[in-house]
Amino acid sequence: MPDLRIQDIRVTPIAFYDPPLLNNAGCHEPFALRSIIEVETEDGVIGLGESYGVQEMIAALNELAPHLVGMSVTNISGLRARAAQVVCGETTGYSGQEGLLPRVIGAIEVAMWDALGKATGQRVVDLLGGQVREDVPFAAYLFYKFKSHAGQTATDPWGEVLTPEQLVGEAQKMVDQFGFRALKLKGGILPVEDEMAGLEALHAAFPDAPLRIDPNGGWHVHTALNLLPRLTGMIEYLEDPTLGIEANAVVQAATEIPLATNMYVVAEKHLPPAIRQDAFRVILSDHHYWGGLMASRHLARICEIWGLSLGMHSNSHLGISLAAMTHLAAATPNLTYDCDTHYPWQTDEVIEGGKDAFRFENGCLTVPEGPGLGVTLDRSELKRLHQNYLDCGILTRNDRAEMQKHQPDWQFARPRY
Ligand SMILES: [Mg+2]
Repeated sequence: MPDLRIQDIRVTPIAFYDPPLLNNAGCHEPFALRSIIEVETEDGVIGLGESYGVQEMIAALNELAPHLVGMSVTNISGLRARAAQVVCGETTGYSGQEGLLPRVIGAIEVAMWDALGKATGQRVVDLLGGQVREDVPFAAYLFYKFKSHAGQTATDPWGEVLTPEQLVGEAQKMVDQFGFRALKLKGGILPVEDEMAGLEALHAAFPDAPLRIDPNGGWHVHTALNLLPRLTGMIEYLEDPTLGIEANAVVQAATEIPLATNMYVVAEKHLPPAIRQDAFRVILSDHHYWGGLMASRHLARICEIWGLSLGMHSNSHLGISLAAMTHLAAATPNLTYDCDTHYPWQTDEVIEGGKDAFRFENGCLTVPEGPGLGVTLDRSELKRLHQNYLDCGILTRNDRAEMQKHQPDWQFARPRY
């Protein structure tokens, strides 16, 4: 019997290159932050986790880590209880969202599952209840973007994307490279007519592709209502068109298009009011902020019971997160929609095999082979990306300030249009 007690937990903040992608809150900075978590057992087995890398998250993970030494990696309830004692569970302002506590739990919980799997020769998908699908489908995540970062001349292979033609070009490239079926457009940035022209150009170029648009709460209720006739029949779901549960419920009541959310149902306490008001019919789960893989399986069950559809949200991430998302999706029977991923936008990697470790076939991934999550840390890349973190000077995420480097008079507004 392996000794499954935790001997040590290490948290390494990293920064990886991120292109100048646009969203309602502004523009991505040149580096995105993540935390890499290593949970080491008494037998020397190392489980891996990956999560947010903002200063507040790193501090909370480091504060909690010593309190978990001696606990078994099977003790998810113990992790939750200990974290609740140590980490302040109240809003502390992370990206304007609640829930530092479930983020911290989720980050370590994934590494505990990985350690358990590696120590016992089992895949995480099997520990989560068993594999229900071979292929996990992902969607193309399309962004408007600048050609280069502010003050820089170097461009990336994607170039500028601000017009419908450029957007179709970006989509074509993603479909060619990864085989994605569904296309998601990040909206709430350009004037509504421009984004509708982009969406209609995508629909014309890819008539069979399920489309989605995500304005991140960037539209007023009347704007969303006015657009519904044009969106009907063109998109498979409308993601967070406007602000909050109540306002989105007004939009949902006016349309058969399902509304989806990863902004306003992001914790258990949001489920009852959202369900009561029929505000959203698709929950975009995310194990990073729902408290881990087990909590996400529970969320899926809640969705099944209440007749809600299920998709998966993503932030800028690397391969440990992608592996965890793939295991989770492969173990979730009622996953309704192709999962989001930012993975095509990232060029750095922290696992062995680099970007070749994952091969998308027709937009799908299969569960990585091997026990646990099936991925191994590349220590030289971890060191390099940690050095990036030390050198880049970014400690939190600030898309708004980054946008103002491009356009000094730009102001954040939500709703904007
Ligand atoms: Mg979203």
